[in-house]
Amino acid sequence: MGAGVGMIALTRAVVRKRRALRQMIYGEIYPADVCERMHAGKVARIAAQLRAHAGDKPVSLRKKAAPHQVPKGGDLRRRDDKIDISDLTAIIDIDPVARTCTAESGVTFVDLVAATLRHGLVPIVVPELKTITVGGAVSGCSIESMSFRYGGFHDTCLEYEVITASGERVTCTPDNDQSLLFQMIHGSFGTLGILAKLKFRLVPAQPFVHVGYEHHTTLSDYQASIRRHFDAQDVDFMDGIIHAPDRLVLCIGKFVAEAPYTHRYDWTRVYYQSTAERIDDYLATPDYLFRYDRGVTNVHPKSWIGRLLVGKLMGSQQVLRLADNLNFLFKSDKPTVILDVFLPFSKAPEFLAWWERELGFFPLWCVPYKRVRDYEWLDESFYSSLQDPLFLDLAIYGMEQKDERNVHRMIEEKLRELGGMKTLISHNYYSRDEFWSIWNKPNYDRVKQETDPRNLFRDLYSKTCRAAMGLPG
Ligand SMILES: Cc1cc2nc3c(=O)[nH]c(=O)nc-3n(C[C@H](O)[C@H](O)[C@H](O)COP(=O)(O)OP(=O)(O)OC[C@H]3O[C@@H](n4cnc5c(N)ncnc54)[C@H](O)[C@@H]3O)c2cc1C
Repeated sequence: MGAGVGMIALTRAVVRKRRALRQMIYGEIYPADVCERMHAGKVARIAAQLRAHAGDKPVSLRKKAAPHQVPKGGDLRRRDDKIDISDLTAIIDIDPVARTCTAESGVTFVDLVAATLRHGLVPIVVPELKTITVGGAVSGCSIESMSFRYGGFHDTCLEYEVITASGERVTCTPDNDQSLLFQMIHGSFGTLGILAKLKFRLVPAQPFVHVGYEHHTTLSDYQASIRRHFDAQDVDFMDGIIHAPDRLVLCIGKFVAEAPYTHRYDWTRVYYQSTAERIDDYLATPDYLFRYDRGVTNVHPKSWIGRLLVGKLMGSQQVLRLADNLNFLFKSDKPTVILDVFLPFSKAPEFLAWWERELGFFPLWCVPYKRVRDYEWLDESFYSSLQDPLFLDLAIYGMEQKDERNVHRMIEEKLRELGGMKTLISHNYYSRDEFWSIWNKPNYDRVKQETDPRNLFRDLYSKTCRAAMGLPG
């Protein structure tokens, strides 16, 4: 009898493993109701971990994919108890008619794009690194070259399932009684609850992308062209590389059904460098979406011979996993600058003049970002005098700090002066009062009180500006 039960359990485990393997290899999707049942089991296991967590020691998440946070040597979160969410990796449903997808939060964009392309669709905003997850994209503010039309990935989401610190399962949408939670979860860095499942929109895609490169010599011409494409909405994708103050390239892409040739940028070729040399290019759609996977402007390995030898093996997942494991090497009071700044479009000339004068680091990645709505997570004062319909996201990757100045802090101060803000994935030096004059404390506190009154996930300031920096409190 005992042996029989053992055999049944073993057979079930083998079947489960084979299914998981098939799903991994073929992206196979089970009927939605089966997926939903499996998902409910995973949520129950996560809720049980949260309920079992006694005391007030903070917790952090353990995902399957490597985190896309700038590694920091003294990060206190490494010592947190972990809530394991690593099995939240299933695509539950793709509805090609409604053009929506429902997926667990740990699904990576590379898997998602592979699955949706089979239906001739893609997610609307696909962050350029392959293993950014849909949950991480919402929690940590992901953007990309469709942002000039749609904003952030979160702006394309329709519904979230959130697990609160007490293990409660809450569904929020922009219109239900949890609408504030829906709006606040974006950019909350896991401090308001665990995103378990997301429903988001998809758009029709073609097999290839034709990218044209406009070469400008002045910022005013560059901005005029961005503004023209934004007003006309005549392209599918728009981003750019500012190679130097007088070498600004705008990359405008369109889906196409056929291509006379295609290029890939996942071995010796470097995408951002190609934008300085070419006038146009064709890429297969997944290769376009992940064209920066070897690093946007901070490509590894840096030398051609290094890329020839190991470049194929060093995608973002491998580099970030290595950096995460070797985090102790990044302990420094002068950390390399890797961050995104969001500027009102009209303030870009002032920021870039200051940048060139004070720091002069180029290239910068440039992503126009539509002001889709006035976000609840920013303080009302942020929008009160803002007229611009567009932001410009400028990404600084891999700038070494060479003198006594703290470049992160200089940027924070300049952004305050110009009415901009930055994402919190990097090193943050804000004081508590300053931070909460930019982020919206009343809205944050209202939701926090509902979803995490014990402060198990830390609050947003403590997590991103204290614990991440190795500071208590
Ligand atoms: C070197 C580098 C390059 C980058 N390049 C790009 C780029 O090209 N385009 C772009 O858009 N962005 C880029 N980013 C930023 C990236 O989009 C964000 O950091 C994003 O949050 C990463 O998602 P992730 O899935 O890796 O999540 P993580 O990095 O693992 O997590 C981000 C935060 O979200 C929280 N979180 C993760 N999953 C969940 C969940 N299920 N529920 C609740 N909270 C959760 C984590 O606790 C953490 O605080 C880059 C970041 C780095 C460090």
